[in-house]
Amino acid sequence: MKSNLEKIISTVLSDCEAQWKSICIDGITYTVFALPYTQLDLPPEGYAFVDSYYVASNKAYFLRKKLCEDLAQAGFETVECTLPYKNIAHLAGLGVPLRSTLIANETYGTRMALEIIGVRGVFAEEASLSNAAKKPEISEICSSCGICEKLCPNGCIGDGSFLRERCIRSLQEASDFPDEAAADSIGTQLWGCDICQRYCPFNKHLESREMTEKEKELFSIENLFAAFSSGKKGCEPYRDILGGNYLRPAKLTALVLSVMANTANPKQYEKYAAAMLNHSDERVRKAAQRLTDKINNQ
Ligand code: SF4
Ligand code: SF4
Repeated sequence: MKSNLEKIISTVLSDCEAQWKSICIDGITYTVFALPYTQLDLPPEGYAFVDSYYVASNKAYFLRKKLCEDLAQAGFETVECTLPYKNIAHLAGLGVPLRSTLIANETYGTRMALEIIGVRGVFAEEASLSNAAKKPEISEICSSCGICEKLCPNGCIGDGSFLRERCIRSLQEASDFPDEAAADSIGTQLWGCDICQRYCPFNKHLESREMTEKEKELFSIENLFAAFSSGKKGCEPYRDILGGNYLRPAKLTALVLSVMANTANPKQYEKYAAAMLNHSDERVRKAAQRLTDKINNQ
């Protein structure tokens, strides 16, 4: 059974540069895998930042689905993992926990999407449930670093604490900003925030890359607005980038308007603000008003 499990996992994951490790807790063998990605450079004027993490995360989700199907077909009972993924990744030896709450791997740094699959049975080294449930110690390197803590615009990262509700990723998901400072903090990051990872020493061996021509077309601020404000169909080309669950036209339209307001010259987007001031969704109206206020105060 064990060699069959390893063979199935290897068949699905070895073609996509993934690394994986397994560990057994309470009679369930968890295989955690890391799918790497190359982050984009900071975008030039006229473009928004869309974090490549989401592309990898989306791909990892479908790889996990495929693994579940193949394992079930081979007679394994697959089990959902209710334990924190990052704890399992750490216990299995896939990475070290960091102050930024991420996990860093020697090869991929923090630039990886994690997924996990459980199968009933003991097919790997065993670890205790209490170890898997408790918060792991963060890397010693973090104690003498603190770069992410200093750089986070919203002060989310503390010594052993994390203010998730102020994290830009959470603010973008809600597409609602509690105050002006929070709305400003996203800058021109439409989806995702890379600030705490870009200068993390665990990523210093990794290069970022320029946008491809296709990405330039997709991430131009004007094209993003045109796509999202035209409804579900317009959002479709972004399915593999943002993930199906995040394709909400009103939410994304409000986010693009927020990005426009945070550019060096919001006035160039005046017509978009005017067109959205009476939108049926409150988030869009608020973002259009904020853009209008920025233009008026320019
Ligand atoms: S930036 Fe420094 S403190 Fe923050 S996670 Fe990376 S190594 Fe740790
Ligand atoms: S993702 Fe951005 S907002 Fe969230 S902790 Fe990192 S730097 Fe702060």
